Amino acid sequence: MLCLTCQRVRPALNPAEYTAGRALLITRHGLCCCAHTVRSVPPRTPAVPAAPTAATAPAAAVR
Ligand SMILES: [Zn+2]
Repeated sequence: MLCLTCQRVRPALNPAEYTAGRALLITRHGLCCCAHTVRSVPPRTPAVPAAPTAATAPAAAVR
């Protein structure tokens, strides 16, 4: 939970991390503002690849 660089509490990534104990640590150690810790979830490649719509539903077959 603590930042390894400044030894402060890292920003919460989700509402579940906003606990009373975490708030107490922030009052004691402070809140980390390092740029390297403020990052969202790494981008994931979609499990299902986007298939071209022309191959699955040709426009000529609709008529
Ligand atoms: Zn930090």
